[in-house]
This record gives sequence, structure tokens and C-alpha cells, in this order.
Amino acid sequence: MIEDALDAAIAEIAQASNEPFPFELQLITYTDPELWAMVRPEENGYAIHCNTGTEQSIQKLWSDVLIHDVLKGADGAYVAPLQVDDAPKTLAQVSLTWLMMHELMHIAMGHFDLIVEAEIVGLSSSRSTPSPHTDLAAQLGCDPVLIRHCLEMQADWQAGQLVLDAAKANNFTALRIRAVSIMAVVLLIERGNMQAGTLGRDHPSAMARFFTLMAGLFQRWMYERGNIKSDAETARVELSETPTEEELKAYFDGLVRPVVNDVIVIATALELTDLIADLRGDAALIRDIFTAQYGEDLSEDSFGSKGGKEWSRLIVLNEQIMQASGMRSEDQD
Ligand SMILES: [Zn+2]
Repeated sequence: MIEDALDAAIAEIAQASNEPFPFELQLITYTDPELWAMVRPEENGYAIHCNTGTEQSIQKLWSDVLIHDVLKGADGAYVAPLQVDDAPKTLAQVSLTWLMMHELMHIAMGHFDLIVEAEIVGLSSSRSTPSPHTDLAAQLGCDPVLIRHCLEMQADWQAGQLVLDAAKANNFTALRIRAVSIMAVVLLIERGNMQAGTLGRDHPSAMARFFTLMAGLFQRWMYERGNIKSDAETARVELSETPTEEELKAYFDGLVRPVVNDVIVIATALELTDLIADLRGDAALIRDIFTAQYGEDLSEDSFGSKGGKEWSRLIVLNEQIMQASGMRSEDQD
């Protein structure tokens, strides 16, 4: 299943960029029950290293949570096109494809120009060797850990957009399935880090990663409504019209709230109690999603949710990293 997910991720990247994925890749799997995956430069290209437990724990999570009210409509039935029998497998496939996509984005976005050492995604284990990013951190005067978090956020953003590309921006069911499948992996990683006592070492918090995903979802919906105007130097979006109150309500009720509810169900199953507390009452989150898109001031004080605040801190630093490292700023868009 991991091989299929990697193949699907490579195919989607190739389709999006209109050219074959330009790096040699090999997949190396280890028989180990822990969820863990990483990508590392090799002599010729890159290798993705992955434990067999990655696939198993994602499939098990889906089997466990599907007995609860996750990905169900008001009528209690699974949202189309999920079929009861093969739903855990189908959803695990989407989750794994996103995970592989995230790894591939580190390669495609040139992160290994900044991080020489092995890049880890997933969990802490004796195999983890977080890289310090000391030079760039010294240059920017920040905690090296935050540079790592920014690169993770970039890979999350780009991988999320590609996985969501498979769905039309107005197909709320398809978007919901994909967004929740992504969050299932993020939450499993969060729980693993919590158990290992390594929260925040390699990744932004699950709430910040959730916020990145939701802000991206909202931006897609806005873009779908607008016209993309591009010339040689810029690609910018001109919104044809501002959504009406009714359209916004339909969007938040039809997509954001169901996704939040599904994430609460999964977080509950994983006993991520702090996270559930943050998600209950979605007013701050919804305001923040709006602020991320329209706000003039993206400083931390403008945001009310925990995820939004962390995102706003990272987005400022991320811009500095982009400039200092010469990464193309379009990579984040
Ligand atoms: Zn990563």
C-alpha cells in the first residue's frame, strides 16, 4: 500500500507540473510497528525510508474511528462516495498518499539545500536525527527549531494543495474526505510525539498544521471564484466578487464545521484531550481562517485560535527564510 501511495503521489506531482518527477527515488521499508517515515538524499537522488507500522497504524486508526460519527452526513450514512466495506482502506490510501507527497515536497522545494542531514517526518525514535539549521538560524536570529517548523509547514501546504487538487473546490464532500484523511496522519504523529515526549521538536503543533490546511482550503474556494491573472513576473488572483454572507455561511457550515467535527472524533479516539478542548467552539478558528485570507495585519495578536497564532508566527519567519535562502516565493503560494 505504501508503494501504491508513493506511485500515486509521484503521478499527481507529475500531472500538476506537466513533467515527470525529476529525481531518482527509492523506497526502503523496515518491519517495525512504529509510524515513521523520512526522506534522505542518496548518491543518486533520494530514498524514502518508511516503517511498515506507518501503513498499519493509519489503517487501524481508520478502522477504529469509522464506527463513530466520522465522515457521516446528517442522515447517518457515510458521505458519498465512501463504501462501508472498503472505507478504511480507501481512506488510508489517501492519508498515505498525502504523507508521501509531504516527503516528496521536501525534495521538490529544495529543502535539502538548507538541511544536509536526514529529514524526519513522523515520530521520534532512535533513528531520528533532527538537523540544527544553525547557520540560517544564526543569520535570522531565531530558534533553529522554528526553521524546521517552517519547512514542515511549506511541505504541508504544498502537499495539501496537491492532494486537494483531486477535488473540485466546490465539492465539499470530496474536500472533506481529503482534509480529514490528511489530519488523521497529523494527529497520529501528534499522539506519537506526545507519547515520546517530543512534541514540537520536528513539527509545528497539530493545531497549527490543521490551521495551515484550513487556510489553504479556504483560499482554494476563494480562488475558484476568482480569475487568476498572470504575467511573466507575477501570478495574482483577482476575486471577481466578494462572497455573500449566505455563501460564506454555506461554506463554513458545509465544509469547515464537518471537518472540525471529524477531527474532534479522531482526536478523541487518540485521546488528544488538549486538542479537543481547542477545537470545541469554532468561532475563533473561523474568524482566523478569514483573517489569514483578508487580514491586513497577520501578527499574532490578530488571531484568536491556538493554531492561528502559531501559524501567524511561522508565516512571518517563513517569509524571511524564503528571502534569505533564495527560495522562490511562489513555492508557498
Ligand atoms: Zn516533513
